[in-house]
Amino acid sequence: MNLILLGPPGAGKGTQASRLVKQRGMVQLSTGDMLRAAVAAGTPVGLAAKAVMESGGLVSDDIVNGILSERLDQPDARAGFILDGYPRTDVQANALDAMLTAKGVQIDHVIELLVDEDALVERITGRFTCAKCGEGYHDRFKLPKVADTCDACGATEFKRRADDNETTVRQRMAEYRAKTAPIIPHYEGRGIVARVDGMVSMDAVAASIDAILDR
Ligand code: AMP
Repeated sequence: MNLILLGPPGAGKGTQASRLVKQRGMVQLSTGDMLRAAVAAGTPVGLAAKAVMESGGLVSDDIVNGILSERLDQPDARAGFILDGYPRTDVQANALDAMLTAKGVQIDHVIELLVDEDALVERITGRFTCAKCGEGYHDRFKLPKVADTCDACGATEFKRRADDNETTVRQRMAEYRAKTAPIIPHYEGRGIVARVDGMVSMDAVAASIDAILDR
């Protein structure tokens, strides 16, 4: 089963995708993670993407389509994938169609997480992750049980994304509204779009998503 998770930044796409990876053995394909890895490694893609990402804008379709296509070719993607943060534009949605047709693969579900943007700003600007294992935390909603120590792996270093500040978050939301939400009709005609309330607890969101995947 292959799925696209849509929703503005902070809607919970990454959280739900990593849960599906653990529970269903699917593969999470996050173009944001791929781009952050490229920035950290200082590759040509990373150098081209860094400033755009820090401003909250969208990296060029050519770059993103290229990295996603390469990633889709890796054998583990055949087990079923979750696209998290891709496609984000009409051009990307069309490119994805072409890639999948060439591979004889299809998208089974497009799930849009519905959220309140003002609440998202608080969600995003408070979030941080364990630098070692990636476990997610939040200044208000989920602090480590023992101060400054990761619940999952015991590490004591944490990191915050450079683009998780209010100005950039508002820009990322504007990009979502202007360029990404309009691609939903692209999938609507195929009868594969479902909407989930993303403002309830993580477990409740998970239950709604599971009901869609299992029906
Ligand atoms: P994310 O982790 O999905 O929130 O992405 C972080 C940033 O990476 C975005 O604000 C964009 O600058 C860039 N990015 C990630 N995925 C894409 C994409 N599919 N198209 C264009 N830019 C992207």
